[in-house]
Amino acid sequence: MKFNTRTIHGGQEDTDPAYGAVMSPIYQTTTYRQSTPGGHKGFEYSRSGNPTRAALERSLASIENGNFGLAFGSGLAAIDAALKLFRSGDEIISTNDLYGGTYRLFTGIFEQLGIKFHFASMHEPGGIEQYINKNTRMIWVETPTNPMMNIIDIEAMVRIAKKHKVLLAVDNTFATPYLQRPLELGADIVMHSATKYLGGHSDVVLGALVVRDQDLAEKLHFIQKASGAICGPQDSFLVLRGIKTLHLRMQRHCENGEAVAKFLRDHPKVGKVYWPGFEDHPNHDIAKKQMSGFGGMISFTTVEDTLQSAVKLVEKLKVFTLAESLGGVESLAGHPASMTHASIPKEERAKTGIVDSLIRLSVGIEDEEDLINDLKQGLD
Ligand SMILES: *Cc1c(COP(=O)(O)O)cnc(C)c1O
Repeated sequence: MKFNTRTIHGGQEDTDPAYGAVMSPIYQTTTYRQSTPGGHKGFEYSRSGNPTRAALERSLASIENGNFGLAFGSGLAAIDAALKLFRSGDEIISTNDLYGGTYRLFTGIFEQLGIKFHFASMHEPGGIEQYINKNTRMIWVETPTNPMMNIIDIEAMVRIAKKHKVLLAVDNTFATPYLQRPLELGADIVMHSATKYLGGHSDVVLGALVVRDQDLAEKLHFIQKASGAICGPQDSFLVLRGIKTLHLRMQRHCENGEAVAKFLRDHPKVGKVYWPGFEDHPNHDIAKKQMSGFGGMISFTTVEDTLQSAVKLVEKLKVFTLAESLGGVESLAGHPASMTHASIPKEERAKTGIVDSLIRLSVGIEDEEDLINDLKQGLD
């Protein structure tokens, strides 16, 4: 099956043996009748397994071209589960240009438990080898990065991970499997905040991990069941429904993203525009190699380069809503320094380019002209 078919049918062959419902029913149940002790139909208790969640997990595995999907109550719950693979004394190398909540989880929870993190620039992939030692267990990559839209070379990271026998995990939230499939490039774990593009309608918080290796899947299933950060059947259903239109939505996100990026670049009140589709983007060639499009996420600064000018602009927007999050059908504008990335210290933020005048757009699937006119009136 091709990708655009897998979004709809992947892993959904027999979702309702009882009545043949085309959509997976929402199995709003905690427990399952047993004919004799231990005699059940594959489900015993909904923390360890639920048919609606299982349908979503098969869909996730299919669209990422993995073998096993695991769904969690949020993206961070998924990362939390992945980090529980490790022990005190283990070391993880992470990109330094990271989603703020991931940084907070790494430093605020797992560092306290004795896991050591190295936050490194991954522009030059070889640069991370200086941090690798006998305790290194995993490399954590987010690409495109949030909010600076840097691109990390996944294949180069795969080579380093394999050479040193450590796991490579990729947060694929921004690209989605429509644009980029890290498992096909050799990554071990793909992580999603399905809250964003996979759900796609800003109405559900959910997270996911997808892997190919059975042993790794068994360890993660144990963590999922033992720690219990699962998602409910209703939320599983909503993401399953969202995934069915992922390819159509992403196509429009890419078209609108390109139009908005080009408009911003030509506007005299705009400073820098960060979008990997520009030929002069420092990692454009890598983006072209590992992604099939450039997506709808764009960051830019004002030419005035002040906090005030950015705040004034986002307050003026009418079609773009000032809000956290991304990846929904509606366009959103955010101010990373005071919103999504406020949990990263100002000095750390500045090092990666998150200046006070930076604005991040999640370009939705509305009419292109309305989006551009909205930005135009705001900037003017
Ligand atoms: C939102 C986000 C997360 C966290 O996911 P939640 O669903 O909000 O817990 C992780 N990584 C990236 C890139 C995100 O955008």
